[in-house]
Amino acid sequence: MQSSSAVSVPASGGLQAEAVSSSNSVRGTLRGLVGWDIRWVTVHWEYLLPIVVVHAFSLFALLPWCFSWSGLVIALIGTHVFGMGINLGYHRLLTHRSLKVPLWLERTLATIALCCLEDTPARWVATHRLHHVHSDEPEDPHTPRNGASWSHIGWLFRRAPDRRTLAFLDKYARDILADRYFRFLERHPTSTLWIYMAHAAIFALAGLLVGRLTGGDWTHGVQLGASWLVWGAFVRTVLVWHMTWSVNSLSHLFGYQTYETGEDSRNNWLVALLAAGEGWHNNHHHDPASASVQHQWWEFDLTYFEILLLKRLGLATDIIQPRHVRRSAASARN
Ligand SMILES: [Zn+2]
Ligand SMILES: [Zn+2]
Repeated sequence: MQSSSAVSVPASGGLQAEAVSSSNSVRGTLRGLVGWDIRWVTVHWEYLLPIVVVHAFSLFALLPWCFSWSGLVIALIGTHVFGMGINLGYHRLLTHRSLKVPLWLERTLATIALCCLEDTPARWVATHRLHHVHSDEPEDPHTPRNGASWSHIGWLFRRAPDRRTLAFLDKYARDILADRYFRFLERHPTSTLWIYMAHAAIFALAGLLVGRLTGGDWTHGVQLGASWLVWGAFVRTVLVWHMTWSVNSLSHLFGYQTYETGEDSRNNWLVALLAAGEGWHNNHHHDPASASVQHQWWEFDLTYFEILLLKRLGLATDIIQPRHVRRSAASARN
């Protein structure tokens, strides 16, 4: 399914210098610096520009004027809450169907995920399912076998025409496209950008009003509005991005393998800590359907406990148990 150009990505960082003509100097530079096989014509600007711009905006956090303790707290809490849209919503719910929730909650979680600017539900799900089908093979969109930085971020910057087709979505995310809301997002790609900008504006506006009320004048309002925008939206977006990307990169590079899964997935405690359990990635590749990735007592899976909380609230059903639990339940029935 992957474009043939994807197969030609140089292995292991590609640090070797190569003679390049002026027409492909960018490609040569990127190959030399970070091992990315990207030319001007294959740059995926729709991803590259937002990623560069939001990273740049997040640098305003370095200005003391933009700092507020409330902004910092909002960024930290937001990293978990919005990250849940990705971990619980996009990943365990939509990609692996490890649980069922009411339609309104499914769409809400997906909308929270959209505020992380990580692609539409159908495209995220299709790409991740492709990763599971072809883990660390040439067709894998982000295997670290093509370089660590490629698996972390580089793969997002190169066009992959085969993954932009309807046939690709139909093969890997037909169930997602069955939903009217998710179909609408595919038909109107800029809507995701509008959703992101709207949510950022809400942070700015809320900070403006709270600052005005607590500080007594609009100067305080503007300052707190800017702080909540920078920390609550931009810094948090960057944190969630790198959290998700670390699952693709670090959890296929560093850590231990409990199971021989035939690829490089690993259990990485640091990624698990940052990404609410998602770093127990070898466990996940061993049993992708399971709602829980906790196979040992120390492999704490916060996302699963949130799924159990949803169940307690009557909002989650059909939670898929780990394979060994499924097997013993099946043998007890026979
Ligand atoms: Zn993986
Ligand atoms: Zn998965």
